[in-house]
Amino acid sequence: MMDLALSIVVPVYNEEVNIEPLLARIADVLPGLPAPHEVIVVDDGSRDATIAKLRSVKKNYPWLKIVELRRNFGQHSATYAGFDLARGAIVVTLDGDLQNDPADIAKLLEKMKEGYEIVCGWRSNRKDPFFSRKLPSLIVNWLIGSDAPTPIHDYGCFLRAYTNQTAKELSQFSTSRGWFPVLFAKLGFRVGEVAVSHHERRGGEQSKHNFFRRMDQFMSVFLGARAKPFQFVQIIGATGLGLGGLGLLAAIAWGLSGGDSRSLMLGLVSLGLNLWGFLTAVVGTVGEYLVGMNYEIGRHPKYLVRAIHE
Ligand code: UDP
Ligand code: MG
Repeated sequence: MMDLALSIVVPVYNEEVNIEPLLARIADVLPGLPAPHEVIVVDDGSRDATIAKLRSVKKNYPWLKIVELRRNFGQHSATYAGFDLARGAIVVTLDGDLQNDPADIAKLLEKMKEGYEIVCGWRSNRKDPFFSRKLPSLIVNWLIGSDAPTPIHDYGCFLRAYTNQTAKELSQFSTSRGWFPVLFAKLGFRVGEVAVSHHERRGGEQSKHNFFRRMDQFMSVFLGARAKPFQFVQIIGATGLGLGGLGLLAAIAWGLSGGDSRSLMLGLVSLGLNLWGFLTAVVGTVGEYLVGMNYEIGRHPKYLVRAIHE
């Protein structure tokens, strides 16, 4: 059903302190946005008072729809729950911690008029730590962008607009581990971007994604980039073999010109170490594929809805 002009989808996990300011900010900008509209807040199995907060303010906001998931499925799965229910011709996604500014939604919608199926926000002035956040993003943007016909700057900005059809297609096509920017290029969507503002997280912990979740996202980008993981492994392996071989040759030459057994040992050890690294990397990569496949064969749902409060 697509009887509305706009759906705003916000996944939230343990955001009790942010719910009220978030909805107030959205309420500020909604009058200037296409109507009729709905705001779907998906509670991704929060363990704090997020759901209670949402239900207590529900009566103030007729456009608010609360989707309660059974447990924590992750930001992207929670977003798919929103996509599947979205009734708006355009679907906008937004972080629940107000790092994205709802005032930028109008910019995305304006850009959509140029015929894009997805318009991504670009955090040209990003407020996140460098080493833990921005540096990994550089790698991720490069990995995804190198597969895309028209790469964009920022695949990690969650503030985006989609046509309803695109949102539904992403949901159908994705896997339960999926981190969907990887699919933008693969599915051949017309993707555009606009610069948006970015703020410090307002409250709650710095990030709701733990290290392993991030690693999972990174691996789905890495493995989603087709041949690249294997090319990396090949380069690592070739480098290891090359260095080990050189070390070995040097050690032999040293031995022939009167060196002692330590030089030979050094060469052998370096060769062994590099081979070990090579094999470990191969096993790790193949293992990643197997884990991913195993998960899909199990047909795990991307999410389960406990209740919808309209
Ligand atoms: N989030 C979620 N499920 C999770 C982790 C995060 O729904 O398992 C939500 C979170 O509440 C926030 C958005 O996803 O609204 C982005 O999360 P966060 O701010 O932690 O990510 P970051 O800004 O660090 O990328
Ligand atoms: Mg955040």
